[in-house]
Amino acid sequence: RNKFQVVIIGGGPIGIACALEAKKKGLSYIILEKGCLVNSLYHYPTNMTFFSTSEKLELDNIPFISNNPKPGKREALEYYRRIATNNEVNINLFEKVIDVKSENDIHTVVTSKNEYKAENVIVATGFYDIPNHLGVPGEELPKVSHYYNDPHYYATQKTIVVGASNSAVDAALEIYRKGGDVTMVVRKPEIGERVKYWVRPDIINRIEEGSINAYFNSSIKEIKENEVTIETPEGEQSIANDFVLLLTGYRPNFGFLQDIGIKLSDDGRKIPFYDEDTMETNIPGCYLAGVICGGVETHKWFIENSRVHAKMIMEHIGSPKSEKVK
Ligand code: FAD
Repeated sequence: RNKFQVVIIGGGPIGIACALEAKKKGLSYIILEKGCLVNSLYHYPTNMTFFSTSEKLELDNIPFISNNPKPGKREALEYYRRIATNNEVNINLFEKVIDVKSENDIHTVVTSKNEYKAENVIVATGFYDIPNHLGVPGEELPKVSHYYNDPHYYATQKTIVVGASNSAVDAALEIYRKGGDVTMVVRKPEIGERVKYWVRPDIINRIEEGSINAYFNSSIKEIKENEVTIETPEGEQSIANDFVLLLTGYRPNFGFLQDIGIKLSDDGRKIPFYDEDTMETNIPGCYLAGVICGGVETHKWFIENSRVHAKMIMEHIGSPKSEKVK
């Protein structure tokens, strides 16, 4: 009962894409997901809008109907849930994979609830679980968060947003528009170049007109209960503060990858080793799929360009063993 040809770790969009392909190939499979269905998406900000149009978020050519040019989180949750339920995708939710031991072409997948034997394992665990920490005093205070959900919470409150990429800019604009007193702290001299092209002018204008305060070339030095010290080019400044949002990005769980034996590049980018044609890692029968592939460069992969991994992997799994040897 606990033996599968394919065990997929992670029930995000790409894990689901892998399940659909496995089903088509007639392979026995299971997805093991530590949270709810499409757990990362579920934890995205309530009002987030994808930068991709809906057809680019589609799996297996199943139409994603949206009346908006770019769909929002609610629509995406609806879409991926319907795909999973309509196709009776075999998925265990709230079951975390703790370890994978690979020996003699068989992988033993150990979870918080069970143990499985798999001929093949696909790691599709994304990168949204581990925030990049600043490592400054006060980062652990309850008023500090690495995740942003809804602007209403910050209405009338002195809120510092650290970061200048899409997440930080979206949060700063939303909170400002719901009556929050927003200050951005940005390490670089300007708002990130990858910020959505239709949002970037909005934030730049709000900063220029003084609606949103911003310290560029600056960083947080210390967070206290009622104030925050910022290092700026003009020297240290302490400002009154109620909440701090550290939206400085996330990273894959490198410890997990290394523990299960996947090699990472040692050039600082920590790119996990995989064959670009098959997605197989240095462990035979163990594959990578989705945004996990980018190492620290989490902006390189997204749904749009990584959904193809599912087909590539299943073609390799389905091919005769002799053809697999390169
Ligand atoms: P994820 O969706 O992160 O799925 C990984 C899953 O693995 C999670 O559900 C997680 O709970 C689970 N998991 C992790 N560890 C374990 C474990 N040990 N055991 C079991 N389960 C585990 N991409 C686009 O293409 N277009 C966009 O417009 C877009 N907008 C984005 C906006 C935001 C705010 C963010 C943060 C990302 C956005 N992305 C976008 C990126 C997109 O979300 C990711 O490309 C997508 O979620 C990747 O899918 P995935 O299946 O690879 O990873």
